[in-house]
Amino acid sequence: METGKERRKLHFSVKVMIGLLLGIAAGIALQWKPEIANTYIKPFGTLYLNAIKMLIVPLVFSSIVMGACGLGDVKKFGRIGLKTVAVYMVTTFFAASIGVILANVTNVGQGLTLATEQAVEVSEAPNIVDTLINIIPTNPIQAMAEGNMLQIIAFALFMGAGIVMVGKKAQPVMAFFDGFADIMYQITGVIMRFTPYAVFALICPTIASNGVDVLLPLLSFVLVVYAGFLIHLALVYFTGIKVLVKMSPIQFIKTVWEAIVISFTTCSSSATLPVTMECGKKLGISLPVRSFTLPLGATINMDGGAIYQGITALFVANLFGIHLSMSQQLVIVATAVLASVGTAGVAGASIIMLGTVLSSVGLPLEGIAIVAGVDKLIDMPRTSINIIGDLMCSAFVARTEGELGVTETEET
Ligand code: ASP
Repeated sequence: METGKERRKLHFSVKVMIGLLLGIAAGIALQWKPEIANTYIKPFGTLYLNAIKMLIVPLVFSSIVMGACGLGDVKKFGRIGLKTVAVYMVTTFFAASIGVILANVTNVGQGLTLATEQAVEVSEAPNIVDTLINIIPTNPIQAMAEGNMLQIIAFALFMGAGIVMVGKKAQPVMAFFDGFADIMYQITGVIMRFTPYAVFALICPTIASNGVDVLLPLLSFVLVVYAGFLIHLALVYFTGIKVLVKMSPIQFIKTVWEAIVISFTTCSSSATLPVTMECGKKLGISLPVRSFTLPLGATINMDGGAIYQGITALFVANLFGIHLSMSQQLVIVATAVLASVGTAGVAGASIIMLGTVLSSVGLPLEGIAIVAGVDKLIDMPRTSINIIGDLMCSAFVARTEGELGVTETEET
């Protein structure tokens, strides 16, 4: 029988959905004057985003420390860590491959001539080796002040492992982080009550300012990218959820729906993290596993980004009439997988990493300027795909460790 609490929860996700639909409708209605949406509606969304962003650094740090401590011994922690990274990388490899194959099949961009007058500054592509070396922070406090997630995660992992190794003497430190993480979850809960309104305030100006005009010339490209997301969802996620997690995909999507909507509207895996963690809890992923895998996933696992990179690289090649050999396409897949590790979980981050992928095979960086105009519309579903991937992999890792199916009462 449905409890009152469940009914209330259901009611909440319906409210979020209504917020989204009304926001889209209002955005379409305000397309003739997007300033109204930007001046009077957007600030409410920004307020919500700021509140959620306020939590990211303390939440990620304390929850990863607790996740590492909660796993009990350093060996188990190392095993789960390796397994998680491997699962994340494998799904991202599938994602990048799907992108490249789909772009080959559809020949996206061939025969298209575009005016490239959009003035977008092409920033220098980040170097992948530097990104990997810089994972270990020389100054963890600076990493926190700058919000460098990879570095924060690395320091939190050292901290968690250290606490486990010190043992009894470190118990007060562990108790501190335990309480601290709980406080962060509590504040998240309060902020999340405003979600339906925030979703409205975030989506309305996006739709109002990115109307059909920007979309039309690049429609075929956008459609191929959307198709790539759907294929990855159906082939990799639904199969993974069914076979590896042993759950019904529909049930899974329903359970994580809130995270999907929030990622869609915020375009940020990091900003969605508090909600993703809540959804992980609803899926029954144990606290130590979800507090370890999900912040890591929000930072390094970007399947949506990898699909996008694969398709866009070939789109740019076709557009400029450049033929890419099989081995060059493999380089694109490999670079897209590595680039996704370095992609920050923030809006539009893939556009920056696109530079790395394009230059890996010498494609013109002007390509970035061409696709930048429609990036917002792609970033929305791209981030949702990133989030679904994090949750699926986390649930799978939990299942292999016998840490899935934990009820709320068991947890407390
Ligand atoms: N916005 C994406 C995220 O936060 C990153 C990207 O692909 O641009 O997951």
